[in-house]
Amino acid sequence: MSIALTSHGWTQLGPHSYARRYEPYDVTIGLIVGSDALLVVDSRASVAEGEELLADVRTLSDKPIRGVVNTHRHVDHTQGNAAFKGVDAIGHETLDEVAIGLSSAWSTDLGDCLVEVVHPGAAHTAGDVVVKVVPDRVAYVGDLVEESGPPAYGDDSYPLEWGAALDLVVGLCEPEATVVPGHGDAVDRDFVQEQRQTILDVANQIRAAAAAGMTIEDALAQKWPLEPSLLEHAVRRGYEQLGVPAT
Ligand SMILES: [Zn+2]
Repeated sequence: MSIALTSHGWTQLGPHSYARRYEPYDVTIGLIVGSDALLVVDSRASVAEGEELLADVRTLSDKPIRGVVNTHRHVDHTQGNAAFKGVDAIGHETLDEVAIGLSSAWSTDLGDCLVEVVHPGAAHTAGDVVVKVVPDRVAYVGDLVEESGPPAYGDDSYPLEWGAALDLVVGLCEPEATVVPGHGDAVDRDFVQEQRQTILDVANQIRAAAAAGMTIEDALAQKWPLEPSLLEHAVRRGYEQLGVPAT
């Protein structure tokens, strides 16, 4: 991974790629600066927070903003959209928030910088997308990967499919790529591969518990690769997806 520089509170990860961590939620926001236009990745949790983000964007560049990509639907990534007046929100077609919805892939050229937005399949949510800054070898991956905490399995997660989505993310990234998680600092591709393995191990254990006829309570009493209290939704969702009665 390249050495990160800091400019006006933004961490520079490549010639066009920046990231910045914000409270609350320790959400990590992306900014891509092309010769013609900017692209913002996620918008924070409220209009006021989005306005603060917009002011921070303007400390780096006054170029037009091509769009705000929402990596997924959760509030800490989308509710600042309204602060970006007249700017299209871009994201997976399942998101209510977006003006430009994609089903699998979308791309835009910011002048000297091609950006690809790819839906790798259901994972943290049904509508996750990855934003790849092609010339910089930087990928913003939202909550498909977490650095400052463990992977977050919510009641809208797809624990059995998440690992396959991360296979696609790994495939999109060069060995030396920089990967920006939805929460925390940038990581390298090895980190993504390790987190993918943990997620695959969780999925395999859910399948084994279901096949053994374990109740969710008994399944969660086992030893897991992550703290079991974080896996209640994962096991419940996995059982639902396997068609096993959630008892
Ligand atoms: Zn999040």
